[in-house]
Amino acid sequence: MKPLIGITSSIEKDESAHKVYDHNVRAIVQAGGVPVLLPNLSDEASIDKLVSQIDGLLGSGGYDIDPHYYHEEPHQKLGTVTPRRDEFEYALFKKALELNKPILGICRGMQMLNVAAGGSLYQDIYAQNHGELLKHSQDAPTYYGTHFINISENSLLQDIVKKNQIKVNSRHHQAVKDPADIFIVSGKASDGIIEAIESKEHSFVLGVQWHPENMLDVNDEPSELIFKAFIKACIK
Ligand code: MN
Repeated sequence: MKPLIGITSSIEKDESAHKVYDHNVRAIVQAGGVPVLLPNLSDEASIDKLVSQIDGLLGSGGYDIDPHYYHEEPHQKLGTVTPRRDEFEYALFKKALELNKPILGICRGMQMLNVAAGGSLYQDIYAQNHGELLKHSQDAPTYYGTHFINISENSLLQDIVKKNQIKVNSRHHQAVKDPADIFIVSGKASDGIIEAIESKEHSFVLGVQWHPENMLDVNDEPSELIFKAFIKACIK
């Protein structure tokens, strides 16, 4: 039977609508899963119910996370914050980790995964790093890989993509600063920015800073392998 994959949804600042990019839906369908879109709820019983029903969780991209979730005051370069989404996802990811549900976190989804597990973020990589960084907010089509990442030896990510280096797209101004204790860093850009993390303690908990769902448009092999591996883990 096809696994049921919960996809987190964005909510605009005026809180008038939930939004999920179709690329996320198509990526799950293409890899053999049944996607279900998760609304940003707040009560614990509903969140428990949602997590218990899904076979896997896809944390989609979106706005910045309120830095109070990692015990920092807002930096002046912090972007848009959406409190209802933060509240929901913080509880959702915690519960999903507790129940050892397979998780694929994309961009904000990776960042929330890290924050929910006790890690921290750069609120703005350019303002909070010394030295010159790569261009992580690309001016190129969304499917187009613009910088390389180096993949850690003996990592889940290396096992999935069978490569030590891949080219990825890049649309972020934040990044993981301190990975939570459960994580190892499984991918880094040449400027040291963390581009992938994975859990040492769970069967399949992977966060990627780029957007593999967009790179499926050009049949990017590593992106296809990542979604296939995620869905496979959700079937077990
Ligand atoms: Mn990047």
